[in-house]
Amino acid sequence: ATTSHAPAVVVGSGYGASVAALRLGQAGIRTLVLEMGQRWDTPGPDGKVFCGMLNPDHRSMWFKDRTEAPVKGILFLDLANRPIRRHAGVLDRVNFAGMGVYVGRGVGGGSLVNGGMAVTPDREYFARRFPTVDVAEMYDRFFPLANKMLRVNHIPGHFFEASEHYRFSRLSRTHAARAGFDTGFVPNVYSFDHMAREERGEAPKSALGAEVIYGNNHGKFTLDQGYLADAVATGNVTIAPLHQVTRVAREGGGYALSVREIDADGRTVAEKHVTCDRLFLGAGSLGTTELLLRARDTGDLPDLPAEVGEGWGPNGNVMVARNNHLWDPTGFLQSAIPTLAITDPSREVFAEIAPVPAGVETYVSLYLAINRNEERGRFVYDPATDRAVLRWQGSAAATAATGTFDRINDANGTGYRHDVFGGGRAFADDFCYHPLGGAVLGRATDDHGRVKGYRNLYVTDGALVPGSIGVNPFVTITALAERNLATILREDR
Ligand code: FAD
Repeated sequence: ATTSHAPAVVVGSGYGASVAALRLGQAGIRTLVLEMGQRWDTPGPDGKVFCGMLNPDHRSMWFKDRTEAPVKGILFLDLANRPIRRHAGVLDRVNFAGMGVYVGRGVGGGSLVNGGMAVTPDREYFARRFPTVDVAEMYDRFFPLANKMLRVNHIPGHFFEASEHYRFSRLSRTHAARAGFDTGFVPNVYSFDHMAREERGEAPKSALGAEVIYGNNHGKFTLDQGYLADAVATGNVTIAPLHQVTRVAREGGGYALSVREIDADGRTVAEKHVTCDRLFLGAGSLGTTELLLRARDTGDLPDLPAEVGEGWGPNGNVMVARNNHLWDPTGFLQSAIPTLAITDPSREVFAEIAPVPAGVETYVSLYLAINRNEERGRFVYDPATDRAVLRWQGSAAATAATGTFDRINDANGTGYRHDVFGGGRAFADDFCYHPLGGAVLGRATDDHGRVKGYRNLYVTDGALVPGSIGVNPFVTITALAERNLATILREDR
């Protein structure tokens, strides 16, 4: 194994990791970012960096033989999924018993594959989740900073009302209103100016061309264009893609990482030994938790606290599909970027109106409901496989959402669709887009993400968030990382 040293190492390149990389670089600290996924900047033979959702190929998923899209089919036909060549694709689904977790893989992490919905959480709910955090400072300083850095923008009302691509959202709004529920616009990091130009035929189609979960070729402001580009521009930050960290141990006064470099087809190119003085874990809820659990339970970092692995949740994610009357088409043109959400305050449900950009009329209204519940799972280390395994048995989220959608169906004389998620179910609570927790702030770490039991070891990503934030999480993860880094760089020099 080749050996190298960096003053600071950041593992991963999603939201928390990108904030760490930029702020470390600006502070003059030479920093190496190790990211297991690819750098997504090179077009394939079709001239595109990413493949679309309707024609997925090897670029779509992380070393799978077949795509595993969340929507399995329409009319029980497996329209969405197809065989693919194993490759370092951009979207992974990590499957545990009873829960599949979708995560982004590549320089930019989840920003490459997500729907771009950029929601600042409800202040009271945030305060409940983070009782030791200065809430005023978050809402006066760090949430505005995160919104600015991520280039959050709002859909113009006239565009939304007129666009054929948002017929599906307007229909769901009407149906929600009949049941007495309010809907509201959801901000996004996808440029609505670009989207309007797509609709006018002045820009290449991405959101309006059924691109999102396997990457957007245009329009979305992802971390590789924002935080990470700024980090590299400081001259102090280097990003190493296709570098997976497998172990973390103590060495000298700092840390030693075992790193496997692969090529895009999965062949090992090099085994590396990287040492650092400070280590920032930004590998996401799953990745960070696994590295810490493995280090604790194999004895590499035996003083890690018992709280590592605890407090995991899927942010109450439940997908549900309703069936519309034949006189209520949802439209065969649908923007892949959701812009509207239904709120049901009595059940604490926030439900995004999600597209089904199938290119044909499906009469399906799809929703991703985010429930504010207290369901938590935990990770344990399995020595036989050397992996972190999720122990999860949730279902309260689906129960809350059932109340909301039963009421919408009652008010409209409609019913559920049972052909969308497999197994004849109308509600799918066995997968999530929003893994949170595993190294919770104030429990596995101190109040700024410093891991208990060790010095100069930090968690900076979604692992800090205790299982639920009530809305889409990346703005919270970004703002929290900004807050923690500001203190760490001030106090730990
Ligand atoms: P991540 O963004 O997950 O980044 C972690 C990075 O670390 C990844 O790039 C990973 O490859 C890398 N990594 C992991 N382990 C290792 C290792 N051992 N070595 C090296 N690298 C490693 N959220 C919203 O707020 N709004 C949305 O609209 C939204 N839509 C979503 C849609 C989809 C399909 C998905 C999957 C997610 C969506 N999310 C959305 C969730 C959001 O993307 C995540 O909450 C966010 O990306 C988490 O940020 P993070 O910093 O914790 O880690």
